Amino acid sequence: MIIVLKSNTTADEKKRIIDKVHSLGLKTMVSEGVERSIIGVIGEEDKIRVQPLEAYPGVEQVIAVLSQFKLVSREFKPQSSVVKVKDVAIGGEEIVIMGGPCAIENLQTLREIAVNVKKSGARILRGGAFKPRTSPYSFQGLGVEGLKIMKQVCDEVGLLSVTEVIDPRDVELMAKYVDIMQVGARNMQNFNLLKEIGISKRPVLLKRGMMATIKEFLMSAEYILNEDNFNVILCERGIRTFETYTRNTLDINAVPAIKMLSHLPIVVDPSHGTGKWGLVTPVSRAAVAAGADGLLVEVHVHPEEAVSDGTQSLNTDNFEKMVKEVRAVAEAVGRKI
Ligand code: PEP
Ligand code: MN
Repeated sequence: MIIVLKSNTTADEKKRIIDKVHSLGLKTMVSEGVERSIIGVIGEEDKIRVQPLEAYPGVEQVIAVLSQFKLVSREFKPQSSVVKVKDVAIGGEEIVIMGGPCAIENLQTLREIAVNVKKSGARILRGGAFKPRTSPYSFQGLGVEGLKIMKQVCDEVGLLSVTEVIDPRDVELMAKYVDIMQVGARNMQNFNLLKEIGISKRPVLLKRGMMATIKEFLMSAEYILNEDNFNVILCERGIRTFETYTRNTLDINAVPAIKMLSHLPIVVDPSHGTGKWGLVTPVSRAAVAAGADGLLVEVHVHPEEAVSDGTQSLNTDNFEKMVKEVRAVAEAVGRKI
């Protein structure tokens, strides 16, 4: 439910309405617009339906929200959210480039990749320390050792970090080492993990599950916001379709659809979205043209030797070219890198 306030509502009137909602055991989210403010009401709305809220001074209109997702919806918060992580803002004018290997392999390799992606314009270094591999026999990641390497390299080179968390018990530990916690496609509906990250209040990059609809994706984000953590960056990374030529089918529709439905920033992962490095640059251009707020790209100094996902990783020269091409598209759509 949304309570739209009149443009001349006083602070006291607003407070009275909010206090009333809280007294009924419901939560509020206030969104201050240029013209008027709106109060989003979250919780068991039946409790409030019997209350004549429209009778309160300052209330223009009470509107029922039909969508299941509330806190993430644009109805609740018409202005786009900008997630600020240290000196990087995701969801603003800048298209934020995140680059790095699929998995953290060793200090030297990560350092070399980091120096290169930074030089090309990346602001955030990606790399997994805990890898959710399809096979238990594949490399599972360096674990805590990988987190330490990530932190050291980011501090040295001047990049922020994004890395995946796969276990709710690791959230506290991860928070010591990384700037943005990634929830991978396989864990998009790991609700305990989502809640734990919500409670931590740390920035999170939430990837779309490979078989999740856009609505299910937004409902997962709702779990995090429901714990009062609004630092959520969504990531479209491709879904399963009948097509097998590519690893996944990048759902470009999801970018403008999510922009319409939600105020949260959305970035695109063209690496898992295609599974083929040769497709990464054109798909990145398309993502930015469609309105993506950033790109999460796998990069390696020697993709042919990468321990995982080498076939979809750009080498550092191709990454540099990719950023140049994407920059031209960004400028054409009024953004910058
Ligand atoms: C990743 O980004 O490292 C990853 C495992 O991706 P996804 O969860 O999208 O498969
Ligand atoms: Mn990967």
